[in-house]
Amino acid sequence: MSTIAASVDPDLLRARLDRARAAAAAHGADALVIAPGSDLRYLIGGTGSSFERLTALVVPAGSTEAVLVVPKLEAPGYAGVPVDALGVRLATWVDGEDPYRLVADLLDGAGTVAVGDVLPALHVLGLRDAQPGATQVLAGPVLRELRMRKDAAEIEALRAAGAAIDRVHARVGEWLRAGRTEAEVGADIAAAILAEGHATVEFVIVGSGPNGASPHHDLSDRVIESGDVVVVDIGGSTAEGYNSDSTRVYSVGEPRDADVAETYAVLQAAQRVSVAAVRPGVTAESVDAAGRQVIADAGFGEYFIHRTGHGIGLDVHEHPYIVAGNDLVLEPGMAFSVEPGIYQPGRWGARIEDIVVVTETGVESVNNQPHELVVLPG
Ligand code: ZN
Ligand code: ZN
Ligand code: ZN
Repeated sequence: MSTIAASVDPDLLRARLDRARAAAAAHGADALVIAPGSDLRYLIGGTGSSFERLTALVVPAGSTEAVLVVPKLEAPGYAGVPVDALGVRLATWVDGEDPYRLVADLLDGAGTVAVGDVLPALHVLGLRDAQPGATQVLAGPVLRELRMRKDAAEIEALRAAGAAIDRVHARVGEWLRAGRTEAEVGADIAAAILAEGHATVEFVIVGSGPNGASPHHDLSDRVIESGDVVVVDIGGSTAEGYNSDSTRVYSVGEPRDADVAETYAVLQAAQRVSVAAVRPGVTAESVDAAGRQVIADAGFGEYFIHRTGHGIGLDVHEHPYIVAGNDLVLEPGMAFSVEPGIYQPGRWGARIEDIVVVTETGVESVNNQPHELVVLPG
């Protein structure tokens, strides 16, 4: 098991736990049961990675104490968590004991239990058997209320992640050239993601030529050719656990296809218009609609085949989603990507992606590399 020690101010964590209790109650849940993962890290500053042995933070809505149920052999991994300051009690169990009984006893009388979105089904069903009278619901809607509204330290962490990935994009010309494969270029980029200040590499997409028309293409052995347009979408997480995610578009020599400049200009305008639409009080879907309209007006609507963006923080993809149908009203502290794309099947594609934060009066971008098509030596 790898456990990440807490680096977050215990007072901040304690306040998050209190807010989680209040949010659980507001959602009609008597308790939260949170598995290792980003929700656990958010609440106690550290997380492990157990699977078949139950580890879970049990947070009763009506108590000031939370209980971290953890296998005895994995308890040392949580030594960095300031349990006393957080009012968290450790309850260990050993192989042969029934951890579900242990949780059921802690939750005696709870009618509705909100289980974390990533609690393995194995444990969800184990808990259900141990507590047949309780109704289980997802804790995701509770936790997202908190995690969507980022505090100053979280925004600072996103800025640091954004600056680090900007430095990687600034260096892509060192590695991206004709005659190399996407995988070779991707390996160099991955090394730079770490070298420029991330603790992990989360993803590296190098979509060259026709591969750029597949938004979630990752890497292949395709040899990059002169004239290729190349989509580079990269991200990692910092030591604090916060993620970067930024896309820029490169051309190896002058682009082969005659329609690139005009189409790319439409994409640039769409990205700019969507970012300009971001401010407190507008809906998530209005930000999506703003840029999408620009692309549709230029006749490329059918080639923009995904939502405009996703929230980002301790997870690369989290709430709020910037998508048609999401009438969530944006508030200061919300952070998400704005990443429209235009994908010409079988030919080439392009996407421009920055992470933005809603401020008191408007918007701040944590990515600041220029948006122009970067034409590299062919
Ligand atoms: Zn994506
Ligand atoms: Zn991305
Ligand atoms: Zn993204």
